[in-house]
Amino acid sequence: MTKSYVIKPELGKEYPVISHGKGIYLYDKEGNRYIDGSSGAVTASIGHGVEEVAEAMYAQAKEVSFVYRSHFSSDAVEKLATKLAEWAPGSLNWTFFVSSGSEATETAQKIAIQYWQEKGRPTKNRIISRWMSYHGITMGALSMSGHVLRRKRFTSLLADYPAITGPYPYRKPEDMSLESYALACANELETAILRVGPEQVAAFIAEPVIGASGGAVVPPDGYFQRIREICDKYEVLFIADEVMTGVGRTGKAFGIDHWGVVPDLMTLGKGMSAGYTPMAATIVSDEIIETITKGSGSIMAGHTYSANPQSAAVSLAVLDYVEKHQLVEKAAEQGAYLLAQLKELADELPLIGEARGLGMLCALEFVKNKQTKEPFALSGGVGGKVIQKAFEKGLLIYPAMGGIEGVAGDAVIISPPLTITTEQIDELISLLKEAVIAVQQELQD
Ligand code: PLP
Repeated sequence: MTKSYVIKPELGKEYPVISHGKGIYLYDKEGNRYIDGSSGAVTASIGHGVEEVAEAMYAQAKEVSFVYRSHFSSDAVEKLATKLAEWAPGSLNWTFFVSSGSEATETAQKIAIQYWQEKGRPTKNRIISRWMSYHGITMGALSMSGHVLRRKRFTSLLADYPAITGPYPYRKPEDMSLESYALACANELETAILRVGPEQVAAFIAEPVIGASGGAVVPPDGYFQRIREICDKYEVLFIADEVMTGVGRTGKAFGIDHWGVVPDLMTLGKGMSAGYTPMAATIVSDEIIETITKGSGSIMAGHTYSANPQSAAVSLAVLDYVEKHQLVEKAAEQGAYLLAQLKELADELPLIGEARGLGMLCALEFVKNKQTKEPFALSGGVGGKVIQKAFEKGLLIYPAMGGIEGVAGDAVIISPPLTITTEQIDELISLLKEAVIAVQQELQD
């Protein structure tokens, strides 16, 4: 093999080189086939090698790929913003385009802070988030994230934002009903706002379903409704981070739609362009845009690639594909089938504490002891071992192990493209079962 100068996640390790992909499958140059059981990083949600997207990409590239957003707009970006306004709930009608989920949450943070400045309340500049959360890798996004593994080296440089406990039904106190647990978790937001002082708090940010730091942790009903009430009571903006859950992944257009709650800002990434080009967005309400328009008249954010027509044309083709093939509905149907199969695995295999999820965003949490739910130490967690075994068998799944030692679990995410068929789910499950059994045996030896 020729020497590689690419900085890869694990330095010194050799990674297979992918030659092409089709549907849920990826193929490497050695001729090995992989089921993309996690859509990469929960991204390739319409599957690989979709012709319509390639054609839209080529058509736009022939016209113009890049114009600078301070100079021009483009048809592609205008049409995409209009479509997103149709998709998004309430008065979330305005889109600020960026290129990654981290940029989207950074931008949401900045817009929330700027909104209060424009209203003459500049002290409202802190963001409350949750311990079990991931909102991105850049410093502002990381300041809002509870992902311990990713924060660790940089803690002293991060903004000192307050964080509350998010609901984690698998590990709720046993003597508490789900309903009161949901309220108790949501009420922590009120306590945090009162502790910091409402005049210091700009916004609260949460993933509708917790992804990378917990593994498809679905909140109980009532949680987000109560969060919305608290945000309204104390004039705190609610940011729904839909980078992982948006664009159909959970079986609704957006994760937060499951609870009928309308946020003030929403972030998108990943499935928005399904991995065909980097594309992400911060979508904000009429009220925010009207306030900033009347005030300074300009949002202090933006990147060179913001609102580039190339990515907009691709994202538009992806959203068209999702609509044409009814992939949101399909994610709900096929996701229910996938979860049922995962629950059967959990019943059968001692290593799996819980199978959970919503739509096509599912996870398995591994435990040392199924009765006591005792977690594995994160450093020696089995999630990584299962991922490796699955990889060797030609199945890709995604880690969700960024939690807190001894508190948050050791999980893997299973989130195939929304186009996956029932037979393909069966194929995925059988490889996954083999991988978990292999790790179980290794742990016994
Ligand atoms: N927000 C959420 C909920 C995510 O899951 C992620 C990535 O996993 C991000 C933000 C950051 O996105 P990106 O990796 O595109 O910067």
